[in-house]
Amino acid sequence: MAPSKVLAGARVVLPTGTVDDGRLAVDGTRIAAEAPPGAEIVDLSGHWVVPGFVDLHNHGGGGASFTSGTAEEVLRGIHTHRLHGTTTLVASTVTGDLDFLARRAGLLAELAEQGDIAGIHFEGPFISPCRKGAHSEELLRDPDPALVRTLVDAARGHARMVTLATELPGGIASVRMLADQGVIAAVGHTDATYEQTVEAIEAGARVATHLFNAMPPLGHRAPGPITALLEDERVTVELINDGVHLHPAALRLAFHHAGPARVAFITDAMDAAGFGDGRYMLGPLEVDVEDGVARLVDGGSIAGSTLTLDRAFKRAVTVDGLPVEDAVAALSANPARLLGLADRVGSLEPGKDADLVVLDAAFDVKGVMRRGAWVVDPQVG
Ligand SMILES: [Zn+2]
Repeated sequence: MAPSKVLAGARVVLPTGTVDDGRLAVDGTRIAAEAPPGAEIVDLSGHWVVPGFVDLHNHGGGGASFTSGTAEEVLRGIHTHRLHGTTTLVASTVTGDLDFLARRAGLLAELAEQGDIAGIHFEGPFISPCRKGAHSEELLRDPDPALVRTLVDAARGHARMVTLATELPGGIASVRMLADQGVIAAVGHTDATYEQTVEAIEAGARVATHLFNAMPPLGHRAPGPITALLEDERVTVELINDGVHLHPAALRLAFHHAGPARVAFITDAMDAAGFGDGRYMLGPLEVDVEDGVARLVDGGSIAGSTLTLDRAFKRAVTVDGLPVEDAVAALSANPARLLGLADRVGSLEPGKDADLVVLDAAFDVKGVMRRGAWVVDPQVG
């Protein structure tokens, strides 16, 4: 059991607002209303304390792929993201053969059962060949609900989200099936029209997979999926805030339209996140990472990101000009609520897991705590 602590002197971002010179008590693995007697006082003057980040969409990091790595490699990838403040992570797969993905689901479900990940997100193979991005075209399938269901079942209750091109045959029936199963249907890698996307949302789709990327652009006579996803209050939009996938003005447009409660910043990270440039595999496809930008060797399509959520946060505040509280919501409370985990994580409240990030005045990570234990100890630096 981790010893009890009081984090003192920092600006603490609470659900009710930011408190200067705040005190946050941690008792064991949880946030406490009051410090237990004898608690260690940790002086964090000059720092921010924000909730641990929740990543809905992440394919790997630290040189490891969640689609193809061994369990140890996957754990290394998770740890890499934890060092950057992500205390809750949904592991995403890329398109593969269905039998292969079902086996992967088994391995990842074990990690979910151990509490290392918050579940599995299947991105592909049920996506549009017109908007395939970095997915193998020959392995793409129409979203027949029976096929989609095989992946959900293979995940043994840990499938959290499936990205679909809902305009394909079986798409709407699959959305309904997923909603019935309590799995989030996400619209993405799609060539849908505005009207088709509205139909998918009516059927139960609730997330936009990396809004703007891998979908038709917004046109004034063909408003497309972007408009449908932005205008429906029930939809949370994922944004990759790495300065590569989105122009800051496009990010601000989405943020202002959806409002701060409906945006989730994600990494969509691949193996190179927190690792370095070089040649990597994304599923069966080769990717070159140069200056932190991942592109397919064949065709040059952007192939995931090398983002970590601490950088997404720092950009949001220092480049995009978002209020700290709004950026915090997009990195913690909103994705936690979407995942049905808001009773445990996503905000700094007594009774919740002591998952938090300590940032300095320049918004660089100085400490990370997960379930009451330091992953990065701010006193060691
Ligand atoms: Zn992805």
